[in-house]
Amino acid sequence: MRKPKRKLQIIAANCIACGRCEAECPFDAIHVEGDVAVIDYDECTACGKCVKECPTDCLFFEGEEAKAKEEKPAVAADLAADVVARLSQYHGVWIFVEQSNGEAHPVSWELLGKGRQLADTLGCELAAVVLGEGVNDVARQAGHYGADKAYVIDDPVLAKYRTYPYAEGCLKLVREYRPEIMLIGATTLGRDLSGAIATDLHTGLTADCTGLEIDELTRLLRQTRPAFGGNIMATIQCKEHRPQMATVRPRVMEALAPDESREVEIVRETLEINEQDIGVEIVEFRPDADLDKPNLQYAEIICAGGRGLGTPQGFKLMAELAEALGGVVGASRATVDAGWISHDYQVGQTGYTVRPRLYIAAGISGAIQHRVGMQTADTIVAINSDPEAPIFNIADFGIVGDLYKVVPELIKQAKEGNLKEKLLGDGG
Ligand SMILES: Cc1cc2nc3c(=O)[nH]c(=O)nc-3n(C[C@H](O)[C@H](O)[C@H](O)COP(=O)(O)OP(=O)(O)OC[C@H]3O[C@@H](n4cnc5c(N)ncnc54)[C@H](O)[C@@H]3O)c2cc1C
Repeated sequence: MRKPKRKLQIIAANCIACGRCEAECPFDAIHVEGDVAVIDYDECTACGKCVKECPTDCLFFEGEEAKAKEEKPAVAADLAADVVARLSQYHGVWIFVEQSNGEAHPVSWELLGKGRQLADTLGCELAAVVLGEGVNDVARQAGHYGADKAYVIDDPVLAKYRTYPYAEGCLKLVREYRPEIMLIGATTLGRDLSGAIATDLHTGLTADCTGLEIDELTRLLRQTRPAFGGNIMATIQCKEHRPQMATVRPRVMEALAPDESREVEIVRETLEINEQDIGVEIVEFRPDADLDKPNLQYAEIICAGGRGLGTPQGFKLMAELAEALGGVVGASRATVDAGWISHDYQVGQTGYTVRPRLYIAAGISGAIQHRVGMQTADTIVAINSDPEAPIFNIADFGIVGDLYKVVPELIKQAKEGNLKEKLLGDGG
């Protein structure tokens, strides 16, 4: 490595060992040892990232000591201590449990599964936030799926979702009990609610996370999501505001198996809002199920077609295969953009995230934006005429060939034999 032109220095007495420099350093060149950060000059490139990140200005480049001292390190340290003291009032991982007519959205249980891991790593409590009317059962179920505690607001004004009373309910709970982390499902409701809450709390919100982990050094939530059109994965941290908020799409995380013997501690709160205070009235509610839309997210078997189908009629073949296997049709964005099928069928970054037991991809190249939506399927079968197609890298079974020859054969086998069982490797 070329010797850097400037040399990093540290005022050890001012270091609060917060670990931010270590977390930011792209070269693994600075480490907190005991109560001070130690620079590894063999690795340091003097890029300056740690200098910018240091909250007490104890890092500086040689020759710039005066500037570092001028920054009144004592005041800077007080400020940092103030931030640390403020943040330390926040404890616990919270999951917003989305429910409709007393039935929870499965994404809530998936988030409790992830929340359990995060809470165990942090050594803190996992709590569910349950708002609605007549939601005691939902709160109890939250315990079955991993919650230690459920904060419940049961009120007629919460019978159907409206932004204002739901946001007010969540804000009241957050301000009173101060969670460190709050996760919400990236559903239509969750996207609306999370933005309203984060704005009011002046905290950060990372939408559509695909990964959530605790940084062991700083205890911050590492929130990973695709960025720049899905070409890179960005890890985002909310360092100075609480709660750290993130949304996660359905089927990205895995729910724990429910344990009905698990008890949950219920904390009841009230909401002082009258119907007259709410400027929105719900006239009619039509669930997706009534609109004849496919339930892709929770389908067990998906037979997806891509541009390789060549024409919109190709989806008739995919529908025939789906019917023979007892599944539903899915699609790549290229086919949706071409107008061959509606967006309700699109799998991927800008479509649905799915986690079926069996995913058959016919004539789909396997672009990263498609893969992020389906790669957690238990079994992936890829059919493509190009042996180099990236979809084969994640396929459990790869068939190189013309889909118009392969798919009819699969349909025949599905109708006559036990293709499903063979592909799933079990009796189901
Ligand atoms: C911001 C952004 C978001 C996106 N979101 C999504 C998303 O949500 N979902 C998504 O799918 N894409 C998404 N895309 C688009 C993505 O990058 C790809 O362009 C798209 O997935 C390609 O679709 P495809 O695989 O059907 O088509 P292609 O990439 O054109 O692949 C067609 C495949 O069919 C094969 N083929 C051709 N003829 C046959 C045949 N007769 N038999 C067998 N195989 C054949 C070819 O070898 C080829 O591999 C997004 C892109 C961007 C920039």
